Amino acid sequence: MIHRKKLGTDSLAIHAGRGDLHRIPAHAPPIDLSSTYPLADLEWATADFDAWVAGKAHAANPIYARLHNPTVARYEDALAVMEGAEAAVAYGSGMAAVTACLLDARTRGRNVVAIRPLYGTTDHLLESGMLGIEVRWAEADRVGEAIDADTALVFLETPGNPTLKMIDIAAIVRRSCPVPVLVDSTFATPILQNPLALGAAYALHSATKFLSGHGDVIGGIVACSEARAKGLRQVRIMTGALLHPLAAFLLHRALPTLPVRVRGAQENAKILAERLAAHAAVARVLYPGLPGGDPESLLGRQMRGPGAILSFVMKGGYDAAAAVMRGVKLITAAVSLGSTDTLIQHPAGLTHRVVEPSARERTGIGEGLLRVSVGLEDAEDLWDDLESALAAAERIVAAPAVAGI
Ligand SMILES: *Cc1c(COP(=O)(O)O)cnc(C)c1O
Repeated sequence: MIHRKKLGTDSLAIHAGRGDLHRIPAHAPPIDLSSTYPLADLEWATADFDAWVAGKAHAANPIYARLHNPTVARYEDALAVMEGAEAAVAYGSGMAAVTACLLDARTRGRNVVAIRPLYGTTDHLLESGMLGIEVRWAEADRVGEAIDADTALVFLETPGNPTLKMIDIAAIVRRSCPVPVLVDSTFATPILQNPLALGAAYALHSATKFLSGHGDVIGGIVACSEARAKGLRQVRIMTGALLHPLAAFLLHRALPTLPVRVRGAQENAKILAERLAAHAAVARVLYPGLPGGDPESLLGRQMRGPGAILSFVMKGGYDAAAAVMRGVKLITAAVSLGSTDTLIQHPAGLTHRVVEPSARERTGIGEGLLRVSVGLEDAEDLWDDLESALAAAERIVAAPAVAGI
């Protein structure tokens, strides 16, 4: 394993998880698609089987692909390095990773304390009680009061989806001690934030987003200590929520460009955020990089930059927001985020539709809110597109009958 102290983030992104390739030898990580593996000796095979079932990271023979896959393991090593963690465990989606963490937590206690806003489906899953773990919603400054002897996990997202609200990870860790804290760090990526360095027990990513970066993979990954990873691997073996080796290959292939993609998209986001904030049709822009967007001064201290996601509220409410989504041409109206191309979506109508309406209201997910995942196009082309969509929205809101729709 390559250690963070020796190399910078950009170098690590390029070289992490590739330490065994010269021995194969190979330059690109090989894709191992075997579902089962030839066994030379039953006694050895039994010892390896026992090792995997105990949640260990290494054994000589993978035995069966649900127990272990070398292509996936290489990507896990890489992501662990990027998060400064001992280990990482990958899953078939971000939600499969969330589910594994909750199932694992359920073996230690009966409830999870969670802070809103969260990704819509995470909120829905917690609220459903489906996994047998009860959710206790808490404000960030009241987490300590919500915790009791049966609390297995504290769950938060920062920056939060879709309002970009930032939460002070170190402060939550202090208030939660000794209960482990999980941070969904999907919006930040390991390039902008490392929750474990701030005391969090788990850093979770929907790898579908920036880690993939090209809109062609669904995956999830959790970075944590080796001791915690054992429990997460055991859940994966028992529930089969595997990341496919082809997906792991694509994620590993996308890692070297993650730093430049995140920084490039962030530069575009800063430009769009400033221009949107000055636009007459826009009531408010939610972006950590704007004045007032970082009330607890977490930029620099917790997050190395404001990121590439922004949200904004249309003065004209739902109709204006819908018109902007209809009006964009270069930007794609679509859910998901973190791709090379810019995406726009309406959280109240789509990703956060499954959140209880009153909770949506309280956390600021209103009908006029739009979320933009800023991509790597030329900033001026993006602004031209947004500006003409905003102009169309203004016309429709001002004179709905004239618009003829
Ligand atoms: C998309 C997303 C998830 C869920 O990930 P999937 O890969 O879609 O299952 C979880 N958290 C955040 C912040 C997300 O954006």
